[in-house]
Parts: sequence; structure tokens; C-alpha cells
Amino acid sequence: MPCGLLPPRPEQCRERRTIAEEEGLSRQHRHDPSEKLIGMELHLERGRIRAVMPNAVGVVIRTETRTYEFPGCVVLPGFVDNHAHILGLGSRLASVSLHDAASIAECRARLQQAVIPDTGWLQAMGWNQELWSDGRMPSASDLDDLFPTTPVVASRVDGHAMWLNSEALRRAGITNSNGLLVEDERDPVWTSIPEPTEQDLRSRIAAAAQACVQQGVTEVHDMDVAPRVVVVMREMAETGALPIRVQSFVSAQHDEWIDAGLLPAGGEIQRTAGVKLYADGALGSRTAALLSDYADDAGNTGMAILTVDQITRAVRAAIDAGWWCVAIHAIGDAAVRTVLDAYAIVRSWDDGSEILLRIEHAQHVHPDDVHRFAELNVAACVQPTQWVSDSKMALLRVGAERQSWAYRWRSLLDSGALVGAGSDFPIEEVDPIAGIAAFVNRPSSEAITIDQALDAFTSQAHRTADMNYRRGQLDVGYDADLVILDRDPRTTPSAELANIRVMATFMAGQLRYTA
Ligand SMILES: [Zn+2]
Repeated sequence: MPCGLLPPRPEQCRERRTIAEEEGLSRQHRHDPSEKLIGMELHLERGRIRAVMPNAVGVVIRTETRTYEFPGCVVLPGFVDNHAHILGLGSRLASVSLHDAASIAECRARLQQAVIPDTGWLQAMGWNQELWSDGRMPSASDLDDLFPTTPVVASRVDGHAMWLNSEALRRAGITNSNGLLVEDERDPVWTSIPEPTEQDLRSRIAAAAQACVQQGVTEVHDMDVAPRVVVVMREMAETGALPIRVQSFVSAQHDEWIDAGLLPAGGEIQRTAGVKLYADGALGSRTAALLSDYADDAGNTGMAILTVDQITRAVRAAIDAGWWCVAIHAIGDAAVRTVLDAYAIVRSWDDGSEILLRIEHAQHVHPDDVHRFAELNVAACVQPTQWVSDSKMALLRVGAERQSWAYRWRSLLDSGALVGAGSDFPIEEVDPIAGIAAFVNRPSSEAITIDQALDAFTSQAHRTADMNYRRGQLDVGYDADLVILDRDPRTTPSAELANIRVMATFMAGQLRYTA
């Protein structure tokens, strides 16, 4: 087991990084990373890669019991989605989808067709007023005539705003709202909705994990997870019910992990690795914290949720309890700066140099702050498909100058920062290939190369959970987490990248999906 209850000491890290030598595995069959990817035979044993050798026809995978052949295909390390919400996706798959609805009328029509679940609350996700011709925010009166007695809650596509009917407001005890709540205002609603049962949780997690393997994802960094869900996830991992690996980042905004008595823990399939905090909201609902006013809302600089002092206190508590990874959501330039200021203090502590510090999204980074990621050894965990979905809206919110500071992938890489990638599903789709295409095809100097894009979804994403010594390379001794693609992304014209198909996915040396 690579990780015990305590964060790794430097000497353990050295030990861990020579794992292939320790196991006495043959180095003769090592794959030269400069070789073209096509034509590779891998032998897998006990969940690891035992040998790597060239093959003329395509990909051959030999496990202890079977041989799989994929002529004309390529094999890559399995994709990592380093910022996502597994239960959120499972709940989305189980709830009414308002994604891509073109109007309030279409949202109403979809809700009207839905079956009311056992909880008695109708839940929906995915509305986006930016797609509606009038662009107006919805309110309770848009739902009350259809649902006079059934509570209805519908989350905005960014997950930071909620549209409710009057019955839902009444049951949550909220009297001063027109049916639109953001951030913490929603807390009474969350506590009013009956909790899903453990069986509900299991089936939602299983459905989401299945959606991941179908897209070639073998590992997810699961963000902002309730302690109760971590326990279910761990049990599913131990009983072989998870086809993907999960690094759990537990909710810490309201000391959830402390109240639940949850501690970090290692594990091969599920690992309770870090804590998750929010420093601000999101641009869509104008709750991302900006250094100056929103371009389309004078006098509003958004919602700074945490101060430097609050962050350092939360990180102190995490380190003291043995956590080795902290992830903090920051979208606006003010929030990014606040988190960097707090991380600078953490790095000055005697025990602050080893902990893995991440900024989730890192969407708007002021030019003065770009270099600080590398200097402070802070990982930027970015979501390239959000640029595709949000850049038009973001331009309205922040204006042209500040928009040029947004989604700074190449600037961060050029400065030496660690950049790992994810999708933030269920806000976006589970689709690392779409993410890779978005990284490469962005018409801007912030686009990155195909090699950088692949690394961001594999080896570099593993680095953002300190797992790169085990995964992210097709090399002897590494974990056999693999994706087989119908063509090589490195030689595919960039305009065709999004058409690449996942043919099969292996996790821990076992076939988990085939097309
Ligand atoms: Zn997220």
C-alpha cells in the first residue's frame, strides 16, 4: 500500500519512485517514450504493466488469463478527470436534465413530463439563462402554476445557483426570496430535501463510474464529497463495485470532515486524499470574486467566500490531521490571489513544503499572479471544455482586457506551473477527448500542444494527487490503467481530434469497457 494514514515523508517518496526496480522487473522490455505510440504489446500481471514491446499490427494486451487484440489502434495511459463530481453526475443521470433547454417554456415542458421521485421533491439540473432569448433569470412564478404542491429545485448549469418554486421555498423555511438562490443561501434547501438512501447513493455512483469508463477515464479526483459518501465509495471500492479509481477530496468548507471524524486513508481503488474548500462562486451567477467590478454589473465585485486567514486556518487543521492534499476552488482574479496569498503562508511553515496545494479552475488569473503558481508549487487544475461553454458569457462579465487573462493554460505551463485537467462533470460532459481538443484548438496564444494536452489528462493530472509515480506512463511497473483509442491523437489533424473513439478501457489490469 503506497500511502498510510500519514502523508508520505521525503524518504518514502524516494523509495516509492523506484518501485519497478524493487520488484525486480525486467528493464529490457521498457518502452522508449520517444517511440511512436502505435503498435504496442503490453503484458499485464497483478494489475501492473509487466512488459512493453513493439507490435506490428496494433495494440495487443495480454493479461494473466486472456489476450485482447485491437488492430490499428493505439494505447495510452488511462485518462484522469482531475476535477469532477461523481455523485453529482449520478444524480444528474437520475434527475431531470434542463441542459441545452432553449427557453423557460422548454424547462417547464421537461419538468412536466418527469416522474416525481420517492423523496417527493422534483430535482433538475442544467438550466442556463444564457441560452434563452430574453436571458432573464427564472423565478418561482415560472413554476408555481405547474407545481402548486410539489417542491421543485433546479440547479443552474454551473452548480452555483438554484431556481425553486414557492412550495420548495416554503418547505425550506425561506420567506424573502423570489425563487432564485445562490451559494450559501441554498443551505436550508439542501437540508430540507430528504437524503438519498445508501442504495440510492450506490446506484448513482455506479452509473456515473460506468459513464467514466466509457470515455476512457480510469481515475477521477472527486471533489467536495460528503463524508457519508466517502464511506459508501470506500465500501464500493473494497467490494469490487467501482470500475474506476477515485481520489476523494472531502468537503471542508464547514469543517465537514472534522465533524464526521473522517481522516485521510490510502487505498488502491479509492483513496481519501484531500480536503476541498471554495474561495468564491462562479461567473455565470456573478458570484466569482473579482478585483474590480463586473463589466456588466457596476458596483458588484462578486462574492469572496474565504479570507486568507480562514484558508490558512483550514489548511493548518488539515495538515495537523494528516491530510496531504488541499484543493481550493477559485474562479475570479480576486479569489485566485487570495488563495495564492494563503498558500504563500502555508509554504513558509516548517511542515508546509510537502503538502500538495491546488487551485481548482484558476480561471481568471491577474498577470501579476501567473508566475506565483510555479514559485509556490501550486497546481492549476483547469477544465478546458469550460472555455468552450463559458467564454462568451465570461467576456460579458469581465470585458475584453480581463478576458485575455482567462483560461491561461500556456502562460501557466510556460511559467513552469503544474497544470492538470478535468471536466468538472456533471457541469460539463465526461469527455477527456473533447477536453484535449479544446486545449489544442482554442484560437488563442493560450492553446497548448497535443503532447501537453495529453499529459494534462494523464501524467500531470496524476501529479496533482501525487500518484504519478504509479500511473500515467506505459512503463514496466506502472499500474495497468489503459485506454485504447481508434487512432493516435498525436498524428490526428487537430480539427478531427474530437472524433477519436474510445475502443476499450482497462483499470488495474482488467478490461472494464469495450466499445
Ligand atoms: Zn467542481
